[in-house]
Amino acid sequence: MAVKQFLKCSVCGKEFEEAVKTVCDECFGPLKVQVNLEQAKEKLTKSVLAQRTQSFWRYFELLPLNDKKNIVDIGTTVTPLVKAERLGKILGLNNLYVKNDAVLPTYSFKDRPVTVGASKAVEFGYSVFSCASTGNLAASTAAHAAKAGLQCYVFVAGNIEESKIASIAGYGPTIISVEGIYDVANRLANEAADKYGWAVMNVNVRPYYQEGEKTLSFETCEQLEWKKPDAVVVPVGSGSLLYEIWKGFEEFEEIGFVGKEKVRFYAAQGKGASPLVDAVKSGGAIKPYKEVHTIAKSIAMGAPGDGDAAIGIIRETKGGGESPSDEEILEGIRLLAQTEGILTEPAGGTTIAALKKLAEQGAFDANETVVAYVTGNGLKTVDAIPKAKRVNIKPRIEEVDAIVGKR
Ligand SMILES: *Cc1c(COP(=O)(O)O)cnc(C)c1O
Ligand SMILES: [Zn+2]
Repeated sequence: MAVKQFLKCSVCGKEFEEAVKTVCDECFGPLKVQVNLEQAKEKLTKSVLAQRTQSFWRYFELLPLNDKKNIVDIGTTVTPLVKAERLGKILGLNNLYVKNDAVLPTYSFKDRPVTVGASKAVEFGYSVFSCASTGNLAASTAAHAAKAGLQCYVFVAGNIEESKIASIAGYGPTIISVEGIYDVANRLANEAADKYGWAVMNVNVRPYYQEGEKTLSFETCEQLEWKKPDAVVVPVGSGSLLYEIWKGFEEFEEIGFVGKEKVRFYAAQGKGASPLVDAVKSGGAIKPYKEVHTIAKSIAMGAPGDGDAAIGIIRETKGGGESPSDEEILEGIRLLAQTEGILTEPAGGTTIAALKKLAEQGAFDANETVVAYVTGNGLKTVDAIPKAKRVNIKPRIEEVDAIVGKR
């Protein structure tokens, strides 16, 4: 079979040829990309991977792009999987790892989906990139548009941090700040995609864009020496990241790179914007929020677009979820920074705070391998961090003596 990838309805299973298409003709279910795994399995072996560089695109055979010449790459690489020994000790976990995506080129994990969405958009012949964003996606989309030499319009939720706007503006896109929450900006981006013929990363090229997220689990397995973890904690906005991490583990299993062990999935959302975690706890359906209130703004969405898929995975794997308060999120940021030397934004603080709550509830055995996904950099949201304390002195060593308690 020659095709490298096709689209598949996530509800009824009907298959379609690759196209710019997001919903099923039969049942209106969301379409997902499926890469031809039989083909990938023949070309991509562990020894082939061992010879490749640490570029994101080392998994080319498992990504939905036909021609490497269309790749738009700003230098996205494999990120560190850090053994979190000091944090683990505090939480009673002997095998805790932090997957640190705060180090990617635009400082969040969004560079993974966007390098795929942007490359696919080039392959489809688009000449304008766009997105609807809580901040991180806009920065990444704008950076990739710059690299491709294309125009870029980004829609952002009116409530996002000033420091995030500044980090987007540097790449030179037109920033359209939409009054209201993310969900409203997203609706407008949907209309724009049709009306102006733009490639909107998380709208009309979404099935391709999402595929980039599964590389997080590919890397995790390779870094754990070809093993899956026992449990993962994932920050959730739309639920796409959680779904794709699961899909990545499934695909690695299918091509024979890892075994059949099941991974338990735990979701982290900020209290005040936690429709998915609420449903996990209640056992019922997802009830959307009309307003969202949390400092974890990059994952603050009222209605999670991939929520049903995400909740299905959490239930099936017997995982769970937690929704820490703003205070707990800030404590999560401090805890990670002061035990592991990793400064994350509130979304990452939410992951660590949820991990802490779950560990305290006994969700994990002490020796299980647990991976916490830290998805964004703290320097992007300095205004979310409470005013820093410092000691002011005159330039005299005696004043330093007083601070360190020496004379
Ligand atoms: C976008 C984002 C997420 C997760 O988003 P989903 O919509 O659930 O895929 C997590 N963390 C950060 C920092 C993000 O920007
Ligand atoms: Zn269908």
